[in-house]
Amino acid sequence: MRFLSLYNSSLITRWSGQMRVAIVGGGITGMSAADTLSARGVEVTIFEQEDVLGGLAGSFLVNGVRLERFYHHLFTSDTAMVDLIYRLGLRDEFEWLPTNNSYYAGRTYRLSTPLDLLRFTRISFLERIRLGILYLRSTSLGDWQPLEKLTARDWLIHQVGEHVYSAVWEPLIRAKFGSYADDISAVWIWNKLKLRGSSRGKGQEERLGYLRGGFGQALEAWEAELRSRGVRIETGTPVEEIRSAGGSVTGVVTRLGAETFDHVLVTTAPQILLRIAPTLPPDYRTRLGQIEYLANVCLVMEVDRKLSDTYWLNIGVQEMPFTGIIEHTNMQNPEMYGGVHLAYISRYLAHTEPAYQKTGDELLAEYTPHLARIYRGFDPSWVRRTWAWRERYTQPVIGLNYSQLLPPPETPIANLWLADMAQVYPQDRGMNYAVISGRQAGERILKRANLE
Ligand SMILES: Cc1cc2nc3c(=O)[nH]c(=O)nc-3n(C[C@H](O)[C@H](O)[C@H](O)COP(=O)(O)OP(=O)(O)OC[C@H]3O[C@@H](n4cnc5c(N)ncnc54)[C@H](O)[C@@H]3O)c2cc1C
Repeated sequence: MRFLSLYNSSLITRWSGQMRVAIVGGGITGMSAADTLSARGVEVTIFEQEDVLGGLAGSFLVNGVRLERFYHHLFTSDTAMVDLIYRLGLRDEFEWLPTNNSYYAGRTYRLSTPLDLLRFTRISFLERIRLGILYLRSTSLGDWQPLEKLTARDWLIHQVGEHVYSAVWEPLIRAKFGSYADDISAVWIWNKLKLRGSSRGKGQEERLGYLRGGFGQALEAWEAELRSRGVRIETGTPVEEIRSAGGSVTGVVTRLGAETFDHVLVTTAPQILLRIAPTLPPDYRTRLGQIEYLANVCLVMEVDRKLSDTYWLNIGVQEMPFTGIIEHTNMQNPEMYGGVHLAYISRYLAHTEPAYQKTGDELLAEYTPHLARIYRGFDPSWVRRTWAWRERYTQPVIGLNYSQLLPPPETPIANLWLADMAQVYPQDRGMNYAVISGRQAGERILKRANLE
């Protein structure tokens, strides 16, 4: 029996070695799919348009230490990502840290624990109780399907009343989704409430996970592991076209020329798939074309002092041009970065807005009057350096009845697959779901090839 199973696995490895899979995109989803496939001996090539892997979770160096271009942390429910970090030998660097949230609406209100909520004088005592009940209900709600038919606005008004909606939620949802705000599904907001509510320690304070020295370390170790397993990684190589013949995928075209593959897995936004796969049928194109994505521009500031005691500040003032301020060095020790303080200012927007193109200094100039309202005495001279990071496809817009729009993993072209963050619904995008989604995509391909 044992002989037979050994024989079978070597046969599978030899056979599957003949199967060639191209992965478009070297973010976490692409890396995870490559991991699953290469572990079964499949010949995998990752094509990544940027010079490094990592996608939205990529990082840059601050005084020699990796820092994510866009703020990143994990919730206690993000077990697939935590398991990966442990597997890559980085358990000792990973830590769960107590953090805190505040809400700015003319003044800063601490909103981290149930006790903070009771002290939240912006709304009446009865409204605070209703808001508390909403948090509790959200963490235990199992059946989210009925929420699909409700907008976040209608659901929140029903749960906590018109005043709490307009005083607390509306500015937040507008800041994030702009003109889409009134169409956002209740599922999206429920999921956010659930996530934040469940990532708590015994004292009810929020606990978030971070890899000391940056998540980039995990991505680097993962890339080394994939390479050692024979995964071919072509960075600086955008896929320009996906080719098919007779209804089946045949390969891809890149700067390296045309190459044949048995399967192609696209891990980018659906809009990119539509651009590079011209033979997709019109009805599928129409469906995918309806999925909207917001862009993000993130200003990272190196500051000579602490701005506040808050890690995560939600902005509840509609005239302010950003969604949140994340003081990274209120979670990580500034000593890690040579004693400097680091803060992100995040802004979701349409990529056509002029602010999407602004430099760090231009964003700082625009934000300075607002920062001076939030932080007493704020002066741009406190800021030693700025970086502005921008990406076009950062947040799918989750509208009503989104499950009907949700693109299936299989496209109408045989052996052309899609695994993108627009598909992790009802969850919202995140590194954890990228790990899971890439793994599932790899498993689907193995199943199709009878290699599971
Ligand atoms: C502002 C912000 C904050 C976030 N905060 C958190 C957080 O705190 N915690 C968390 O878990 N997650 C967070 N995320 C989400 C997380 O970064 C993503 O969910 C995850 O990294 C998505 O990985 P992905 O591989 O699916 O997509 P991506 O990272 O977008 O990867 C897609 C890749 O495809 C490449 N590509 C595109 N077109 C082509 C082409 N034609 N050819 C080849 N390559 C191509 C892109 O360059 C990119 O590398 C945040 C994201 C943003 C934007």
